[in-house]
Amino acid sequence: MKRRRLLRGATEAVGAVALTGWAVGRVDAATTASPAGSPSANPGTAAGSPGSARVPAAAKPAPAGTLAASTTTSSPGAAASTAPRAGPRSALQRSLGACTPHDSLGRLQEGNARFAALWQKASGLASPRERMRLLEMVWRDECQIDPLALAQGQRPFAALLSCADSRVDPAWLFACGAGELFEVRSAGNTAFDEAIASLEFAVGVLAVPLVLVLGHSGCGGVQAARSTAPLTPMLERLVAPIRATLVNGDDLSRAVQRNASRVAAQLVEGSALLREAVAAGRLNIRSAYCDIGTGRVTLL
Ligand SMILES: [Zn+2]
Repeated sequence: MKRRRLLRGATEAVGAVALTGWAVGRVDAATTASPAGSPSANPGTAAGSPGSARVPAAAKPAPAGTLAASTTTSSPGAAASTAPRAGPRSALQRSLGACTPHDSLGRLQEGNARFAALWQKASGLASPRERMRLLEMVWRDECQIDPLALAQGQRPFAALLSCADSRVDPAWLFACGAGELFEVRSAGNTAFDEAIASLEFAVGVLAVPLVLVLGHSGCGGVQAARSTAPLTPMLERLVAPIRATLVNGDDLSRAVQRNASRVAAQLVEGSALLREAVAAGRLNIRSAYCDIGTGRVTLL
């Protein structure tokens, strides 16, 4: 239980840091120097475009204690292979990269395999507390980035576009700690504009090398798209892109998988930044399906 509280608290801190990193990217793009140690010369510019944040930061040194220089232009793997640089920024980068895997997709698969095994064992236990004690073992040999480093920045190794469903929390499914996964969540895991923009931030500013679109069994969003039951205007708008992917004869599971695969393609179609990152080999976009009963995530 302690572990969960830590995750919640740290995740809130990461959210605040993300805006700081964004503002720093904007400062670099405008080639305006900010004082050393200042996290943001102008936080009011946080609503800028992700494209501008991709301007190579090498032309302008980032302020000490910020993420701008290495996270705008290189992948976590590439950053880890460069020679350590002197100063507080490199120390921060090392701390933030303490848990960065060499193979992002492999790390997710490995974490999920351990989670799924425990999830299936837990389903046979009568006591809710016993189930939690068992499930917490998924993190027993895992890695947690120093919260002090996370207070200054973030370096997630993967981004998830997943459903908002309470049963498919990516941190659970992949046994990840705070600062490791950049999560965009909405019912039906559709490629709505704000989701694409968020992923542009993850890739363009944080240099995340992997985006995984995650659908799941029993998805209410896809069920709503398949139904003729009346919806609110907002929900109608949400399910419209899912309806566009439906194929006669598909069961719910197949419809969820088709939607996830289609959304992965839409990310590339809808964003020049993501498209260029894929073409340059800096980004891998995949789709996957989670079976809630087994806890297993299968790549599509
Ligand atoms: Zn769902």
